[in-house]
Order: sequence, then structure tokens, then C-alpha cells
Amino acid sequence: MAKQSTCAAERSSTQFNAVFLSANGNLRPCQAAASDLCAGSVGASIVQFVMRRGAQFGLLFLLPLLLLFPLQAGARPQYGSTYGPLPVFELHSGFWVNLHHTLYHEARQRAAASAPDNTSKASGPPLKIAPEAKPTLTASEQKSWDDAVTYYAANYTGKDLLFSTELIQLKDQLGDFEDCDELSGRKRKFCDAGMPAKLTQVLESAASIYRAHLWPQHDRANRRWILRVAPLVREQGVGLSERLADIYQTRWPREKIRVDVSAYANWAGAYTTVDPLRVTISSLDSRNQGPEALEVLFHEASHGIAEPVQAAIIRECRQRDKAIPRDLWHALVFYTTGEVIRPVLASSGETAGDRDGSVPGGGYTPYAVREGLYQRGWNDYFKLLQRFWQPYLDGHATFDDAVARMVSSL
Ligand SMILES: [Zn+2]
Repeated sequence: MAKQSTCAAERSSTQFNAVFLSANGNLRPCQAAASDLCAGSVGASIVQFVMRRGAQFGLLFLLPLLLLFPLQAGARPQYGSTYGPLPVFELHSGFWVNLHHTLYHEARQRAAASAPDNTSKASGPPLKIAPEAKPTLTASEQKSWDDAVTYYAANYTGKDLLFSTELIQLKDQLGDFEDCDELSGRKRKFCDAGMPAKLTQVLESAASIYRAHLWPQHDRANRRWILRVAPLVREQGVGLSERLADIYQTRWPREKIRVDVSAYANWAGAYTTVDPLRVTISSLDSRNQGPEALEVLFHEASHGIAEPVQAAIIRECRQRDKAIPRDLWHALVFYTTGEVIRPVLASSGETAGDRDGSVPGGGYTPYAVREGLYQRGWNDYFKLLQRFWQPYLDGHATFDDAVARMVSSL
């Protein structure tokens, strides 16, 4: 895809040093590739939306899982090999990616707590985490952990996980080194991640504390989340990927899409970065629980294939000399994923229980309806999508006609 090639030259297994060396000055902008991704486009509209859901996993469900997956910090969490390979996605619960997002989350929380208006995006929706889960650290552990959070606060809290090239590449690099229990290469040369010495030292000293206190519960939450969604992916993954690729008039990526399941993700609960296409999803976020996890997965993955519709909207706008609507394509991706997922979940019995009934004819309420995205600024888009895009989804209009009619009605 053209927009992804913007940064393709920067992405390789050996480019990390170069990126960090240039971090003080001339990072080539990758924002063009990332700026059309999920969270940035939704904006602040969903941040303060009060979450009222959150499927719970009972203890009876949890115990067999713990037997199935004894915790092994640093062990390769390749769920495909555990359950038999999953189609479409490759689901990971990686130690370093989780540590990175936890430090970022704590640093943002600290910044939010000291902000004058106290309304930072750092808070997000309620997380599925028990109050007793807060670990008790020794004084020296607390100091090391605080130092790491301070480092993140000083270097990263002002940067967005979705838009900062530096953070995207750090996240990807930490994912690539998930098999390593160090990042410096002191013990094993191939575990030298090539990161700046200070960052390596910060992460390694925080790692022992995280591994001892938080990682077991985070990894457990990630595995629960994966176990919950895996059967749906196995049953429906191929069909859904083909249907979505067909709708967007493109091909689904040939390689499985890597999904990093992490206790914390960004303020939106999930985000997707390109070159390489990778999804990060929070296992604790209340928006991502239950059968709805399947929609979150496919919504995020759609960021990697929906470029043709965005290009078509821009083309139609230019032809009609109209301003390009900022988020129409993203509302369309939300709408499309929800409509494609809804009958699948309804027919598999994976309905979400008592919903508000705002979408008739099915027991599953799509994410954008459930989280109030349309009511919070996208209502006109929602009407356009129902009127002109739905006929295309139903096979009663062509792709080009549907986009042209939407744009002409703007
Ligand atoms: Zn999105």
C-alpha cells in the first residue's frame, strides 16, 4: 500500500540504531503513514465515555487456564503453537511490550494526576484489574521502578504511542526481542537490541521488578483474553478476512498479522501501526472484553487494508471540489466491521447479552454504537453509511457508486 511505503525504508531488523541515533534531531516523519490510524482519528470523543460493560471471566474458567499455561516469564508466548495455529492473526503476550506499555501508562497517569485540569487521556475507561492486584515493593524496588517511570515521563509521555515514530519503533523492537530476558546482549549476543544504553538500563532494571510483581497477572490477563477470542478466530477468521478484503477491494495481508496483547495499550484501548502492520490490544480494557474482542481485532486489522476506501473518498471529494471529511473513512471502517461481525456473532451464539436495542435485528451491538461514537460527532456519517454504504454491503450497489453517493451527500 502506498501510504505504508512512506516509511518502509526505515523498517528493517537493523534500522533501530539508526532511528535512535537520529532521535535527537532528524527522524524522518512517519506520521503520514500512521496519522490515519484508529485512535488519532476518533479524537477525544470517546475518552470520557463511561463504560458500562466488561464480560468477566470467572474463577472456574481461570483455574484450568492456569494449569494449561503455567507462568513462565520470558517463555515464548506463541499461542498458535499452543492451540494449533490460528488463521489470520498471530497473538502474542510479550514481556517487553507489556513492560513498555505499563511504564508508559504509569508515566501518563502521573502526568495526568499533576495536570491542572486532571482530564488527561491517560485515564481512559475502567480497567479490569482488582484493587488487591497492586503489588507491594521493597524500598529499593520502589525506587528502581519510580526511576523507570520518571524516565518514561521525561522522554515519552509527551509523545503518542500511535503517532510517534520513536515509540512505534521502540514497541516493534521490544516485540521482536520478546524471547530475550535481557536487551543488552550481555548474556546472549543475539539479545543485544541495539538501544541507547540509558534506555536499556532503565528497562532491564525495571524488568526484574515487573517480572516479580506485575507480569504474572498481566500475562494471565493476556492469556485469558487470547483464550476467549481464539475459538472465534479459528472458526470465523478466514471468512471474515476474505469478506473485509473483498469489501475494501483489496487483498488481506499474506502473512498473519501480529497482535501484541498487552495489559495496557493506548488511551483508546487498541491501536495499529504499519510497516510492519502490527496491532496492540489491551487485555484489561473494558471495551475489549467478551465476544466484542473479535470486532476489535478485525477493526484494528482493517486499518491495514482500508486504504482503497480512503483513497476513493479523497478522489470523489477532489472531483466535486469538496473538503475532505476528516473521519468519514474511519467511521466507515467502524460501521463495516460492526456490520460484518454482527451476523457472525449472532449465528455463533456469541451475542453480547442485554444491549440497548439500538440496532434491531441482532443480539450483537457493534462497537461504535455501543461506545457512542456516532452520537458523539459522527451521526451524520452514520446516516450516510446506512443510506449509501449499506446497500453496497448488501450487494445492491457498487463500491464506486456507494462512495460517490456518500460524498455527493456531504
Ligand atoms: Zn480505528
